[in-house]
Amino acid sequence: MPITPDRRHLQSRYDVVIVGAGPAGMAAALGARERGAEHVLLVDRETDPGGILLQCIHSGFGLHAFGEEVTGPEYAGRFLEQVLEQDVDVLTDAYVMDVTADRRVKLMSPRVGVHTVDAATVVLAMGARERTREAIRIPGDRPSGVMTAGFAQQLVNLEGYLPGRRAVILGSGDIGLIMARRLALEGVEVVGVFELLPQPSGLTRNVVQCLDDLDIPLHLSTTVIRIHGRDRVERVTVAPVDDDRRPIPEKAWDVDCDTLLLSIGLIPDAELARSLGAQLDPLTGGPVVSGTMETTLPGVFAAGNVVHVNDLADWVSREAQVAGEAAGALATGARRPDQDIRLIPGENVAYVVPHTIASDGTHTLSFRVRRPIHGPTVLRLGEIHRRKVRAVVPAEMVTMKVSPRILEGFRGDVLRVDAIAAEEVAR
Ligand SMILES: Cc1cc2nc3c(=O)[nH]c(=O)nc-3n(C[C@H](O)[C@H](O)[C@H](O)COP(=O)(O)OP(=O)(O)OC[C@H]3O[C@@H](n4cnc5c(N)ncnc54)[C@H](O)[C@@H]3O)c2cc1C
Repeated sequence: MPITPDRRHLQSRYDVVIVGAGPAGMAAALGARERGAEHVLLVDRETDPGGILLQCIHSGFGLHAFGEEVTGPEYAGRFLEQVLEQDVDVLTDAYVMDVTADRRVKLMSPRVGVHTVDAATVVLAMGARERTREAIRIPGDRPSGVMTAGFAQQLVNLEGYLPGRRAVILGSGDIGLIMARRLALEGVEVVGVFELLPQPSGLTRNVVQCLDDLDIPLHLSTTVIRIHGRDRVERVTVAPVDDDRRPIPEKAWDVDCDTLLLSIGLIPDAELARSLGAQLDPLTGGPVVSGTMETTLPGVFAAGNVVHVNDLADWVSREAQVAGEAAGALATGARRPDQDIRLIPGENVAYVVPHTIASDGTHTLSFRVRRPIHGPTVLRLGEIHRRKVRAVVPAEMVTMKVSPRILEGFRGDVLRVDAIAAEEVAR
């Protein structure tokens, strides 16, 4: 258990206050300290810092950050060690209720009660939440046994309960795939994973390691159209969908199960950003950010899944390091770099983060494609930069590094980002 300062030990004013101590919050704290911020406070509503990583006991984390694969708790532990070495104040069991545009952070915790701290800069790192049954309105009964895959993961990995004996999983996002394997290893019969789209929503490595290796069937272009059961789920009706993703009821069939896990996507937990008045991007659901991850409100930064849903924690840490460094620098009097170029999603690109960049800075652009291209693909930044990659799929975030050398010749203020099949570009 890390230090949990009580009211006497909390400063009334911090250089940087960070909301959320997942991988984003912890990396931001380190970035802020590196750039000279003396007083940094990291706040989380949970008892232990680490965010969603604490329930991800599988390996698959850290290849980029540490050059080796570790589990989620190990990844979080390594960052937490550095955070504590850097004398960051870590306040857990503390819920941030409100942040104002002049950066007053109001929190509530059993140790400090309702308390307000002032901050020169704030980093929002609240992560994302799972979409539930209500988001896609599955008709039928309302029995127990229907839950999100992340909640089932918490039950199994943190609390030691099995959610049921015979499970169906709706959605092939990474959490669903990982839970298919986890439940199968715990002796649950996983009848199948049903995916509305014609391709999996999760990483290829997870399809192979979590389904193929355990002979769990994946039904693409198929969805659950009804839930049956009075007290407990007894069965679900599944049906293939047409090209417009409309179920074809004549081809439906019933699957017996006592558990239905939903892995139907994550939504940035951006309520604080919204109530603060930061501009949100309807494409990501998270705040609009500059190349230093500053929101449209001066001194309020954001990073990690609250900005856009990342596939790897390593990318979250990298992005949050940028936010923390910029927040730390601004808090200690540095000049804010001029963000003179706006980025917009173009051909086959669903969104781009950041939304603006500085032409004299080095940036990593993150984006997702709308549809897969299973062959050589050209990633294009306006007319000034092209990079070829082997293939792109919506499940895997694409990154592109840009430097002042690439941007120096550009005379304009808007750049489009495209992802196009190489053969089409050649034509
Ligand atoms: C099931 C699952 C499996 C995954 N597997 C992998 C994998 O194998 N490899 C990989 O690299 N990545 C994986 N990921 C992705 C990775 O875990 C996430 O990208 C990463 O955890 C996001 O980091 P974050 O800090 O933005 O958010 P989170 O980890 O969600 O942390 C957000 C924190 O903010 C806190 N918080 C929110 N609101 C408040 C508030 N108002 N007040 C105080 N605290 C607040 C929360 O309690 C939480 O601790 C997986 C994710 C999931 C869900």
